Amino acid sequence: MAIIIDGRTIAQSLRRRVAEEVAELQARTGVRPGLAAVLVGDDPASHSYVRTKERMAREAGIAGRVVTLPADVAAEELHARVRELAEDPGVHGMLVQLPLPRHLDVESVLAAIPPQKDVDGFHPLNVGRLWSVRDPLAQDVLVPCTPQGCLMLLEEVLGPGGLRGRRALVVGRSNIVGKPMAALLLARDATVTLAHSRTRALAERCREAEVLVAAVGRAEFIRGDWIRPGAVVIDVGINRVEEAGRSRLVGDVAFREAAERAAAITPVPGGVGPMTVACLLANTVKAARIQLGLPPAG
Ligand code: NDP
Repeated sequence: MAIIIDGRTIAQSLRRRVAEEVAELQARTGVRPGLAAVLVGDDPASHSYVRTKERMAREAGIAGRVVTLPADVAAEELHARVRELAEDPGVHGMLVQLPLPRHLDVESVLAAIPPQKDVDGFHPLNVGRLWSVRDPLAQDVLVPCTPQGCLMLLEEVLGPGGLRGRRALVVGRSNIVGKPMAALLLARDATVTLAHSRTRALAERCREAEVLVAAVGRAEFIRGDWIRPGAVVIDVGINRVEEAGRSRLVGDVAFREAAERAAAITPVPGGVGPMTVACLLANTVKAARIQLGLPPAG
């Protein structure tokens, strides 16, 4: 039976570390890091994510702010609000909660966020630097939160340097999870394959992987017999399923089956999810340090 990787506890200790860094930064410079989220429309999941981000920011001593706009907001109005936050010296980290309503152009909105305040790491400059610098986490690059959290979980299990030379498979190539995950694994010297919906013989590719990251968005899609015995499995998926009139969350991996073969595996919920918010807070402190001309790591 696999080790169950406890994302809640690991995220909690990261949040505690962030709170200490916030206090230390404030004592040294008088600056309290600030995080602002722009929320467009009434999607309940987006509202719930943003509320959690704001609450956890506050708990870590970060000043949290949410700008709420109606679903039919004009692109010019959204850009004007993004510009205001971009120019506000009290806002060190800012994000626009995705997805946006269809009439808005995501790329131009993300490009309007100053790279040094881009705590989601989606600005083209941060994306480019993620792929080109030697160690993006140690350097002044803001790295997307979910893959950053996945990497921390992997290093928790495998130890520093533990990814070196390992065969890693990432299933899913989104800009938010799959691609930045591949970049981080590569930066840690893993041998990386990035799979997607056109990949042939996916089960075979999975069976070769010593490290498997699933970010597909399909409930229990990756079966137990696809897992290489002794693999480390990170399940990013969050899928709501209805069973016997009850709704519950499951990952992209058939957890029970996979846990029979894996050496270690993340549960859903309680694995990657809590790490994402904790990394957002860590990115906010990193952004504040970059803006203050301090080295990225405290
Ligand atoms: P996307 O829908 O943007 O991407 C899904 C990826 O999976 C695509 O690259 C797609 O391939 C690939 N895919 C779909 N079907 C198959 C298939 N049959 N075989 C192989 N690959 C396939 O999703 P996200 O990356 O945004 O999210 C993935 C999951 O992670 C979701 O469940 C989401 O809820 C969850 N998530 C969790 C977070 C957390 O904090 N825990 C944060 C972000 C996401 P193609 O490109 O070819 O279409």
